[in-house]
This record gives sequence, structure tokens and C-alpha cells, in this order.
Amino acid sequence: MIEFALTDEQRMLVETLRAYLARTIQPDVARCDSEGVPIPNAFAKLAAAGVVGLPFPPAYGGAGLDYVTLGLLCEELEYCDTSLRTMMSVHIGLTGCGIYQWGDEDQKQRFLIPLASGHKLAAFGLTEPDAGSDVGALTSTARRDGDAYVLNGSKIWISCATQADTFLIFAKTDPAAGKKGISAFVVEREASGNALHTFSINGKYGVRAGDTGGLSFSDLRVPAGNRLGEEGEGFHIAMTCLENGRFTVAAGATGLTRACLDASVAYAKARTTFGVPIGRHQLVQEMIANMVAGYEASRLLYLRAGWMKNQGLRNTRETALAKWYACDASNRAADDALEIHGAYGFSDEYPVARFLRNSRGAVIYEGSREIQKLMHAEYALGYRKDKPVRCTLPAWSSQGEAPGPAKGGTAN
Ligand SMILES: Cc1cc2nc3c(=O)[nH]c(=O)nc-3n(C[C@H](O)[C@H](O)[C@H](O)COP(=O)(O)OP(=O)(O)OC[C@H]3O[C@@H](n4cnc5c(N)ncnc54)[C@H](O)[C@@H]3O)c2cc1C
Repeated sequence: MIEFALTDEQRMLVETLRAYLARTIQPDVARCDSEGVPIPNAFAKLAAAGVVGLPFPPAYGGAGLDYVTLGLLCEELEYCDTSLRTMMSVHIGLTGCGIYQWGDEDQKQRFLIPLASGHKLAAFGLTEPDAGSDVGALTSTARRDGDAYVLNGSKIWISCATQADTFLIFAKTDPAAGKKGISAFVVEREASGNALHTFSINGKYGVRAGDTGGLSFSDLRVPAGNRLGEEGEGFHIAMTCLENGRFTVAAGATGLTRACLDASVAYAKARTTFGVPIGRHQLVQEMIANMVAGYEASRLLYLRAGWMKNQGLRNTRETALAKWYACDASNRAADDALEIHGAYGFSDEYPVARFLRNSRGAVIYEGSREIQKLMHAEYALGYRKDKPVRCTLPAWSSQGEAPGPAKGGTAN
């Protein structure tokens, strides 16, 4: 049986969140985007809405809701602004889910509960100046020293870098072993002192109302008890984190496409040329029709991926496909939305220039368009296969227990 209907609880959450974001955050978005400064108190406002621990069991400070609901949340967040969804992609999707899936009980108690309950914000540190898609090329190191590791290196393009309290950082414990030498560490800002430095990237093309930056760490001592998984499991951990991150990105991009559609429909009805609203011109209608198709297809793809995650089914291919398709669709929708707005779209009088800039980053991060194409061609050609029986993710509900972590994965 295929069930397309949302539950009453999901519908209520979506409506409540949409109204809450419109009231508490939307008024700041255009100004922050224009000034290139993060939306004030965004994390605190999302925490107050009770969504920053949405998929985690109540025992760990979360709301115990499922992946489909997490997708709906991300769709609404990015409908408001990409920076909000990005924050939840790193806080919930990449880092929180990573700690939940790979952390032992002590680590969940120490790290996950403060994140899920909204007391701390998380970031995810994988990318380096010379290692993006090619994760195995990262050069940050972690040297064992007694009951600690000593981390040296740097990360770049890290969402929430200057705001986060807790970082999931990947570094090599065995630099000679390539991607098999990578390990994962939870790093807490307050315990790091001057050994951890974070900075903002200024002059970004998009996500200008959010915090994107970098980290550098020099002889940063991290307790051995902060290592997630075993030494050498970092690459697998990163890939499973990305599988959750990509899901949130796909759902968010779907929300951005909807924002483009709504703005375009409103403008096309109001703007008149040659004696009729531009919505009456068929070439304008074509752009709007493409947005409708992009929105519906993106939504079905991410809902399917969410459903598979809820069942604990392997979903690497389906989640990656949702991410690739939805990000490309939102980028096309934003470009068309700007076209429909004509010269007014070229200014910040309307939101569509922000939509276009914001849509671009997600085409690059969490697996660029090219990496996704390679992956899906390889699946089709039979060069890439996932073990069919291995469940990659927890069957995620307040009743569900997390199975062991998965192996395998794809490029960043
Ligand atoms: C707004 C934003 C937020 C981000 N947030 C985070 C974050 O929170 N944490 C984090 O760790 N990272 C983050 N990133 C980094 C992101 O994950 C990387 O940018 C991404 O992995 C691509 O790496 P790169 O930029 O180094 O590009 P490269 O890997 O250098 O790629 C450059 C180009 O070459 C293409 N290419 C590379 N390899 C191949 C190949 N084998 N075949 C064909 N084409 C290829 C790529 O598709 C791309 O077009 C963020 C990036 C942005 C823009």
C-alpha cells in the first residue's frame, strides 16, 4: 500500500511552524541577506519552536518524530530562508544524526541531549581547503597522546562555524591509509580554549543570512572518549552523516521551489504587459508550469526517501537522487522566478534574487551535481551496488531503537 496523506500531527506542525516563522523570523530575512549578517537568534527561535531535536527520541531531548516529518520541517524552513534549513541540516542531519547513530550511550548523554534540547548548536567539519568532493584527501591529523588525541588542521566552508558549540570533526589518525585512516571526533568549543579558532567567510554569493566559515585547530586536545566509532571508521561515519544531510537538503530545496512558485504566481497576476497580466502569456505560463512539476517531483522524491528511512531500508540511491533532482529543480525555478519578475527581480525589492543565490550552494554541497550524476550513472550501469539488506539508518521513532551503523557511502 502507498500512503500519500500526511497525518493530522504533520499537517498541524507544518501550519504552526509556517505561521511561527512568518511572525518571528521572516521580518529579519531580507535585511540580513542584504547586509550579509546571520539572522539574530535564529537557533534560539527554532529551539523555542521545539524543532531542533525533532527526530531524536524524547529520552535524548528530542521530539521522537519521524523522517517524513523532518522533511516537512526542512521544506518549511527553506520556504522562509535557506539559512534556517542549512542550520538544521548541520545541527540535526549531519551532526545530531551522526552522534545518535554512531555514539555510545555516554556520548549521547554528553553531546546529543544538549543539541536536541536546544542548549547547544552543532556544526559539521569535513571539508578542507584542499579536500571537498575528494574526502580521502583531507590532511587534518589526530595523533593519539595518552587518553587524548591531539588535532591539527583546518576546515573551510563550514556552516554555523562561528556560532556552533559542538563540532563533528574528521581528521586522519593514520595519514598513510587514505580514507581508511580517517576518524571522527566530537569537539566542544568551551573545552577547546585558544586551540580552536573559528572565522566567518565574507562576501558569499548566497546563504547570506546564515553563518558560513572555517575552523583551524592547533594542538587541540580532545579526550579519547570523544572519538565517534573506531579509529579508521571516519569515512563511513561521514558518508552516513551525509545521507541524512542530503535528505534535509532535498526537502529544503523543495521548499525553495515552492517559494519561487508562490512569488512568481503572485507577480504574474499583478504585472501587466500588452494589456494583460503576464500570467496570460504562454511563455510565462511555461516557467510556472515547470516550477509546479519541479515542486511536485522533488516532494515525491524526498517523501519516498523519508519513508524508506522510516522503514530502516537502505536509501543511499533514493536520498541522493532526491537531493540532486530537488537542488537542480530549485535552481531552475529560482532562475525562472527572476525572469518572471523582469528587472524588478534583479533588485532586492522582491525575494527572487535571494532565492536564486540561495539555490546555488546546495547544487554544490553534500555531493555536487557532477558527483551525483556519476553516482546515478554508475547505479544504472551496474558499476555501483549497495548491499540490499543493510539498513543504513535507524528506524526512527520514539519507539524505534537504532540498529548498528552502516558501512559504505559516497563522496561529499
Ligand atoms: C554554502 C556552503 C555550505 C557548506 N557547508 C559545509 C559544512 O557545513 N560542512 C562541510 O564539511 N562542508 C560544507 N560545505 C562544503 C561542500 O561540502 C564542498 O564545497 C563540496 O563538497 C565540494 O567541494 P569543493 O568545493 O572543494 O569542490 P571540488 O571538490 O574541488 O570540486 C570542484 C568542481 O569539480 C567537480 N568535480 C570534483 N570531482 C569530480 C569528479 N570526480 N568528476 C567530475 N567532476 C568532479 C565538482 O563537481 C565541482 O564542480 C559547504 C559549501 C557551501 C558552498
